[in-house]
Amino acid sequence: MSLALTDVTLTYPDGETSVTALDDVSLRVAPGELAAVVGPSGSGKSSLLAVAATLIRPASGTVQVGGVDVAGLSAAELTRLRLNRIGVVFQQPNLIGSLTAVEQLLVTEHMRGRSPRASRAAAAKTLATVGLDGRQHRRPHQLSGGERQRVNIARALAGDPGVLLVDEPTAALDHDRGAQIIELIVEVTRTFRLATVLVTHDTEFLGAADAVVEMRDGRLAPAPTAARG
Ligand code: ADP
Ligand code: MG
Repeated sequence: MSLALTDVTLTYPDGETSVTALDDVSLRVAPGELAAVVGPSGSGKSSLLAVAATLIRPASGTVQVGGVDVAGLSAAELTRLRLNRIGVVFQQPNLIGSLTAVEQLLVTEHMRGRSPRASRAAAAKTLATVGLDGRQHRRPHQLSGGERQRVNIARALAGDPGVLLVDEPTAALDHDRGAQIIELIVEVTRTFRLATVLVTHDTEFLGAADAVVEMRDGRLAPAPTAARG
């Protein structure tokens, strides 16, 4: 499934005036491709992901997921799109403290209306895919930071999405664990032919990306080669 943002502009109200978070941004990601987004804090990277995730509607421009312009979808269709087509991974895993790894995935599977039996088998398989075989029944406090982020990624993959949106997934991790998480994101992008957008500060891993773009004051430009480590 492909992802395409075309001429997207987004403003937030800011007192008497407004902040332009995205200024005429266009980005295209084909199935199986990973686009890395770098840029300073406050430049609009998370806003870009929020628009791509259809969580925020832009002031102008279009967002297409799998060739479909999301502006034309009803509220119910948008909910289904988010649940079944778009996987999102935030910086902090946001896991539920009382639930095991497999149960974290079952919460969203339940929202998808899948049967508990089928969901449980699928969730166990997805956890194995992200390297958490044998860890299914651990709660967040029994997992390392890297493992918690893997559960977060597994949860994003559980619905078998076509688009994966990842926001600074390594910010809370040490170098080696961060590197493994980026490797995992590249691997699942290729294996499941996802259109992935990865916001990251880890410029040393950008060689694995198909495109590297830089946000500055809401504008997107090809990153200078120096940023590609
Ligand atoms: P980044 O992820 O690159 O740090 P953001 O997308 O979070 O950038 O923010 C881009 C700009 O939009 C910043 O100026 C930020 O202060 C502003 N902004 C982000 N979210 C909101 C919001 N909900 N309301 C108002 N302004 C916001
Ligand atoms: Mg951000």
